[in-house]
Amino acid sequence: SERTLVLVKPDGVSRGLVGEVISRIERKGLKLVALELRNVERSVAEQHYAEHAERSFFGDLLDFITSGPVLAAVVEGPRAVTAFRQLAGGTDPVEKATPGTIRGDFGLEVQYNLVHGSDSTESAEREIKIWFPEL
Ligand code: ATP
Repeated sequence: SERTLVLVKPDGVSRGLVGEVISRIERKGLKLVALELRNVERSVAEQHYAEHAERSFFGDLLDFITSGPVLAAVVEGPRAVTAFRQLAGGTDPVEKATPGTIRGDFGLEVQYNLVHGSDSTESAEREIKIWFPEL
């Protein structure tokens, strides 16, 4: 069994899609082991997105992720990293995510793509330490 970090970003929370995302995680058979609605400190956002520090959109990304409450979750199950990324769909909600995925069903723009899921087991352990240091 494996763990992954899931975020419902501020756009997903403000649009009332928290229940939808949690429901899909549960229906898939994945297990919620931590769940918290919280405001994101800039330092947490910087650590979380450190790999994008040199990208042109880094500042916008930090502004966005700190713009309102985020639902942070640790999700567990067999191949949880890949399983959640499949539920989320590709990064671009129109060009990459297909209908039936969270982004494909509810998203329109890359910057407002509703959810985050760790991209590897190594990223997952790194991100879980940032968001849930007590776990
Ligand atoms: P996440 O890490 O949030 O799950 P991802 O792994 O699918 O997304 P990355 O390429 O790691 O995608 O990009 C991280 C996040 O940065 C994206 O989810 C998106 O919100 C934002 N992003 C990516 N590309 C752009 C862009 N061109 N303009 C604005 N924001 C972008």
